[in-house]
Amino acid sequence: MLKVEHIGIAVQSLQKSIPLFEALLNTSCYKQEQVDSEAVRTAFFRKGETKVELLEPTNPESVIARFLEKKGEGMHHIAFDVADIHAEMARLAAAGFTLLNPEPKKGADNKLVCFLHPKDTSGVLIELCQEIF
Ligand code: ZN
Repeated sequence: MLKVEHIGIAVQSLQKSIPLFEALLNTSCYKQEQVDSEAVRTAFFRKGETKVELLEPTNPESVIARFLEKKGEGMHHIAFDVADIHAEMARLAAAGFTLLNPEPKKGADNKLVCFLHPKDTSGVLIELCQEIF
């Protein structure tokens, strides 16, 4: 793992939360992207080497909708940048971590991603992400 790439925050409404995070971080949202496979709309902010990703559900079946129902708005995941996602997935699986997707999948922001089950990571959902070139 190279660094924290971004922190994912579940929100009810991007329309409400984007201006809030623009004021908080003193920077403009540089990208909004819908990820249909996850039923989310995302918004990204860059601060130094790290980004903040806001996630808004696009339908009530979305994992983000279920998260909001259970826990309300708040931190959803921490994403680590990896150089070789296949190698990192193999290393972590061998170390006993549960991969939520057995193959990397296409995520937001031009990334291949894999999530680790929070039951193995002290309750924090971890995302591995590798930039697609
Ligand atoms: Zn993410």
